[in-house]
Amino acid sequence: MTPRHHFLRLLRYFLAYRWRIVAGLFAVAMMSLSDAVSAFLMARLFDVLQTISQQVRAGQEIFITVPFALFDLALASFTVAGRDESFQMIFWFAGTVIVVIMVKVVFVYLREYVMSSVQQKVMMRVRIELFDTVVALPVRYFDANRTGYIMSRITNDVTNLEQSLQLIIEIAQNLVYTLIFATALFFTSWQLTAVTIAIFALSGVISRKFGDKIRRYSRDLSNTLADISSFLQEKISAMRVVKSFTREEYERMAFRKRVESNYHFSMKIVRTIALLSPTNELFNTSAASLLVVAAGYLFIQGTMTIETMLFFLILMINLAKPVKALGESVARIQKTLVSAGYIFEIIDQEREQDRADRRGFHVTEGRVEFRDVSFAYQGDGWALRDVNFRVDGGERVALVGPSGAGKSTLINLIPRYYSTTRGSVLIDDVDISEVSLTDLRSHIAIVPQDIILFSGSIEDNIRYGRLDATAEEVRAAAVAGNADQFIRDLPNGYATEVGERGAQLSGGQRQRIAIARAILRDPRILLLDEATSSLDSESELMVREALNRLMEGRTSFIIAHRLSTVAHCNKILVLNNGSIVESGTHLELMQNESGLYRKLHKLQFQKEPSSA
Ligand code: ATP
Repeated sequence: MTPRHHFLRLLRYFLAYRWRIVAGLFAVAMMSLSDAVSAFLMARLFDVLQTISQQVRAGQEIFITVPFALFDLALASFTVAGRDESFQMIFWFAGTVIVVIMVKVVFVYLREYVMSSVQQKVMMRVRIELFDTVVALPVRYFDANRTGYIMSRITNDVTNLEQSLQLIIEIAQNLVYTLIFATALFFTSWQLTAVTIAIFALSGVISRKFGDKIRRYSRDLSNTLADISSFLQEKISAMRVVKSFTREEYERMAFRKRVESNYHFSMKIVRTIALLSPTNELFNTSAASLLVVAAGYLFIQGTMTIETMLFFLILMINLAKPVKALGESVARIQKTLVSAGYIFEIIDQEREQDRADRRGFHVTEGRVEFRDVSFAYQGDGWALRDVNFRVDGGERVALVGPSGAGKSTLINLIPRYYSTTRGSVLIDDVDISEVSLTDLRSHIAIVPQDIILFSGSIEDNIRYGRLDATAEEVRAAAVAGNADQFIRDLPNGYATEVGERGAQLSGGQRQRIAIARAILRDPRILLLDEATSSLDSESELMVREALNRLMEGRTSFIIAHRLSTVAHCNKILVLNNGSIVESGTHLELMQNESGLYRKLHKLQFQKEPSSA
C-alpha cells in the first residue's frame, strides 16, 4: 500500500460526511467571493478618488458617473455631484466593504465549524473502528507483547492522523480558494494571469530546489551529530582504555575530524539559507517589475486601466496565500500518511471468526473431549501432540506437569483462544470449531493466575461476570466467593474504587473477587489457573472454600502448580512435552513407581513438606 492508497482511503472516510463537506466548501467559496467583491469595491473606490482628485485640482466642480459592471456586463451606475455627495459616496463604499466582510466572517465561522466537525467525526470513527478491531482480534495477535504497539497506534498514530485530516481539509479549501481567485484573475486580465502563472511556477521550482538542498544537508548534519554523541559516549566511558594505550592524540584527531564534518554541513545549511532570502527578494522584485512592465504595456495598448490593475494586484495578493499553503500541505501530508498506514494495518487484521451464523449452541452437560488434538503456535514446534481424553459433565480435572509441558495451551483451546492445528475439541459432542464463539464462551469462566481487576468499583468488577446482575445477585456471588465479609469491612464497601484501592487488596482478596465474578457468570465449564504464590493459611482456606463452591456441579479444569490441591480431583492428566503421559486419580498415579506424577510429587514434597 502506497501513501496514495492511504490518502484515497482516508478520503473515503470523508465521503460519509459529504453534505457537511459540500456546505464547508460552499462557505469557502462564499469567503473567496466576499474577498473578491471587497477587492473590486476597493479598486473602484480608488479609481473614483483619483478622478475626484483630478477634478478638484483642476478647480472643477466634482461630477462623476460611477458604473458597476461585471466584466463586460453593465450592472448599474450612479452619478455624484458636489463635495457633500462625494463624501457620502465614499462612506457608502467603505460601509459596503464592511458589510461584505461581515458576510465573509459568518462564512468563516460556518466553514470552521463544519470542517472541524467533519474532522472530529472521522477521528471518532477511526478510534471506534480501531478498538472494535482490537477487541475482535484473535488472542494470537496479542502474543509477543504487542500491547505497546497497539497502544501507540491508538494514541500516537490517531493523533498524527488528525494532522492528515486537517491537511486534507486544508487542501480542499485552498483548492476552492485558488480556483475562484484564479478564475477571477483570468477574467480580469488573462495576459497578466499568464505572466503570474509563469512567475508562480518559477517560484515553485526555486523553493523546491532550496527545500531539497536544506533537507539533504539537515539529514547529513543530524548524522554527524549522532556520530559525535556516540563517539563521545563511547570514548568517555572507556577513557581508561584510551589512556592505558596512550591513544589521547589519536582520539583527539578522530574527534576533530567529526566536529569538522559537522561544521562543514552546518555551513552548507547556513550558506543555503543565507542565499534564500536575497534570492527571494531578487525574485519578488523582478516578478513585480515584470508585472509592472506587462501592465505598462497593456496601459499603452489601451487594454487596461489603473483600476483593473489594482483589482488584479489585490486578487493576486489574496491568491498567494492559498497557493503557498497548498504546496506546503501537499508536501507535509506525505509524512503524516505513514500513521494512516499503520492504523489501516491494524484495521485490516484478520478478526476472530465468530461463526455468528451458527448461534444457538448451548452447553447442558459440560462434557469435554479432546480428539487427536495437536497444536503448534507456529511452524511445526508442537505445543500439544495427539492429546486424547474425555471428561464427563461436572468432573474435576487437574492438569499437572513441568513448566512448558503444555497445560496453559490445552486450557486455551477450550474457549478457542486458539484453534487446534489438528484434531478437534468437542463440548457435549459438538465440535467447537462449528459453533459461535460468543455462545461457546458464554458457558465458560476463567479464573487466571494473575487476577486482573479493572478500574471501577468492586461491585462493577464482580458484575463484569454478568452485566445485568442485580445488586443482590452480586452480593450473593460475593458471599459464595467468601468475599462479602472483607468487602463490607472496606470503608466504602462494594462501592470501593479498585483503581485507588486495588494495590491494597491482598492476593487472596483479589482471587475471591475473581471467584465471585465467575460464580455470577454461572458457567458450565470452569478453567482455573492456580496461583503459584502461596497465601497465608487462613486466606488459603477461604480461597479454597470459595473455589470448591465455584466448582460444585461444573466441569472444571485446574492447572495445579501445587500437587497438594489435586488429590480430590476426579482425574489428573499428567502432561510432558505436549503429550499426556499419564492419567488417573491421585491414588492410581501414585502407584506407578516410575511415573512422572510420582516423581513430581516426591520433588514437591521434599520442597514443601508442610503443604503436602
Ligand atoms: P507453565 O506451567 O510454565 O505455565 P505450561 O505447561 O502451561 O507451562 P504452555 O504455556 O502451555 O506450558 O507452553 C507449552 C509450550 O508452548 C512451551 O514450549 C511454550 O514455550 C510454548 N508457548 C506457549 N505460549 C506460546 C505462544 N503464545 N507463542 C508461542 N509459543 C508458546
